[in-house]
Amino acid sequence: MLSILYDSLYTPRHVARPGVLLIDTGRIVSLEDALPAPSPGAEVIDARGCHVVPGLIDLQLNGAFGLDFTANPDDIWAVAGQITRFGVTTFLPTIITSPPGTVGRGQAVVMQGPPPGFKGAAAPGLHIEGPFLSEARKGAHNPDYFRRPSLAEVARWTPAEGIRLVTLAPELPGVLEVISWLAAQGVVVSAGHSSASYDEALRGFDAGIRCGTHLFNAMSGLNHREPGLVGALLATPGITVGLIPDGVHVHPAAVGMAWQIKGSAGLTPVSDAMAALGMPPGTYQLAGFAVTVDETSARLADGTLAGSILAPNAALRNLVRFTGCSLAEAVAAMTGTPAGLLGLERKGRLSPGCDADITILDSDLNVVMTLVGGQVVWSTGQPATPARP
Ligand code: ZN
Repeated sequence: MLSILYDSLYTPRHVARPGVLLIDTGRIVSLEDALPAPSPGAEVIDARGCHVVPGLIDLQLNGAFGLDFTANPDDIWAVAGQITRFGVTTFLPTIITSPPGTVGRGQAVVMQGPPPGFKGAAAPGLHIEGPFLSEARKGAHNPDYFRRPSLAEVARWTPAEGIRLVTLAPELPGVLEVISWLAAQGVVVSAGHSSASYDEALRGFDAGIRCGTHLFNAMSGLNHREPGLVGALLATPGITVGLIPDGVHVHPAAVGMAWQIKGSAGLTPVSDAMAALGMPPGTYQLAGFAVTVDETSARLADGTLAGSILAPNAALRNLVRFTGCSLAEAVAAMTGTPAGLLGLERKGRLSPGCDADITILDSDLNVVMTLVGGQVVWSTGQPATPARP
């Protein structure tokens, strides 16, 4: 049995009074007002003075620590073992447009699961971004590998075979039947890298699209007579949007506007981080392209943004800063909202029966400790030092 003492807990609803979170065999057992009588082997983590939140969920991570999932899907578990330092307990390794075969390699890695003795974040499936995208909105994707949407190519793209989310452009010929098929399998389909008109976007939503990928970036913008994909995503209730709140991809004012429309139930911050996350400035790769990384951004030689270097806990901090929302709302947007979208019923909340995936943050939202399934997988050692009663 593990107990976490808290005085600021987010279920994600804020509980601002002292209490104890009880954990057993990887699950949350109960929330109590006081520590029960100590039992042999019981462990206590004192998180008072910190914020105890559900583990962060990142729907879009291309790599980190010098590793790029599209270049080498075998690196997924190496990154999963370290990404917990940013408070992430669940993420979707993202494979971008690449030669046929890369997705299958990623599926094999995810379905095989982590190596023995692994301690790190869960990767319940892949986010496949491409290859059914618009050339006009290619961003850092290699258009040589763009392909026409086909049911044959996605025949094995199911949650049971390691695919959770697919980003595609809803205006492409033949894409609607691909959208319907994926949605029927339980894959979340998201519109992105797209020049879709408002009407084309709505037809995609009707076919089963439930989400938009990095809102505002690489998509038809909002014009009052041509609302485009941005307008369709913002104006349609029930559509969730991912957004990169690094202050570079989207102006803070536009983040605030999207937040006012979508709120915590309809907007989830994503890092879209690439290999340079957690590394010093320099040259890194994204799916075979050289990417120059400075202190704030990652760009191709022509200046095109190529993923971000946004730490997921910094995404949470920036969302609060850019929108003026409460921490409880920001936490909900990065925990319960993506968990709900993916249908992960035991994740994204701190309530009895849920997985004990927990992030402990200091007052500046630096990550102090991360637990996955009730196990401490990352810790600064300060100030929430595990202590025996
Ligand atoms: Zn993208």
